[in-house]
Amino acid sequence: MIDTIEIARALMRVDTCNPPGNEQAAAQILAPLLADAGFAVEHHCFAPGRANLVAVRRSRRMRPALAFTGHLDTVPLGAAPWRHDPFAGEIASGRLYGRGASDMKAAVAAFVAAALDAGGVDADLALVITGGEERGCEGALALARAKIALPEIAGWIVAEPTSNAIALGHKGALFSFIHFAGVSAHSSTPHLGVNAIYRACTAALAFRDMDFPARHPVLGQATANVGLIDGGHAPNAVPDRARLHVDVRTLPGMDHSEVLARLAALAGDGSSLECIHDLAPVWTDPTAPFVALCAAARDAEGHVAEPPRGASFFTDASVLSRLAPAPVVILGPGEPSQAHVTDEWCGVTEIEAARSLYGRLIRMHADAA
Ligand SMILES: [Zn+2]
Repeated sequence: MIDTIEIARALMRVDTCNPPGNEQAAAQILAPLLADAGFAVEHHCFAPGRANLVAVRRSRRMRPALAFTGHLDTVPLGAAPWRHDPFAGEIASGRLYGRGASDMKAAVAAFVAAALDAGGVDADLALVITGGEERGCEGALALARAKIALPEIAGWIVAEPTSNAIALGHKGALFSFIHFAGVSAHSSTPHLGVNAIYRACTAALAFRDMDFPARHPVLGQATANVGLIDGGHAPNAVPDRARLHVDVRTLPGMDHSEVLARLAALAGDGSSLECIHDLAPVWTDPTAPFVALCAAARDAEGHVAEPPRGASFFTDASVLSRLAPAPVVILGPGEPSQAHVTDEWCGVTEIEAARSLYGRLIRMHADAA
């Protein structure tokens, strides 16, 4: 029997805080396990020390594969001191502590263990284990740029933390810097210059007041937020440059190029827009057969049925479900509220429940195929 918790602890002992990432060292823990279990394993390096791992095992029937995805990078530790060593995989009071416990090394360990367990099941499986997710899906985008070959996918399980409940998607994310130019002058004669900070502030208020009329029954409405502002070069000068960072979260069906055009128009004269991240929204029809399969697997494992929900965060599914189109279900152990916090933890029984649920899903997928 494969020990899920030991795999999770081994992953957590590798510091994969992003930046810089260093995910390759964690991927190298998983690769031999999967290769020994008959998976065709490929490392896709996208920067020094950084890699995605793609593992595929085909059945005799060569049917569309059940795909699992998760990321190996984590966010940094933050400034506050930790009571539990973030890189030791400590277990206390039934909780596995450390950076990446909930987001999302335990989940990766759970689906890897389920896949290793499924040696006797004639199932088509694809595991796409990425780096760089926390800073805009860098690893998944590298896979897309490389046009890596995946088998046809029947459905994606994104193992991000949902407390083992089903989430059907999330908003898209459009991150942009907007640069404002002005004309410098002595601050005692501002009428001789053009103040770039005023331009940025005028635009920031316009972004605050942006209206997105569309509503989604689960995801709500699109939003815009100005999160960063900088500019100027001296306290006694009219600034000739300023910059805003705007984060727009979009709904399924919204055209990102139209949103960018709106931002550019609102930014006005003397501005230029630089899009940093363009990640598509994800939504799966609740009546899709793949959702029913996941719900049936949860039911068989004794989980209580819940109404469909959305995730509050974005995931690699923005990229991967376009690389290999298929329904997406976000389903993983861990508390969403534990993601990115000090003394992050994940319940040990919840990790084991995820591994059991994933195993059930693999068997049900094989039977249904
Ligand atoms: Zn995550």
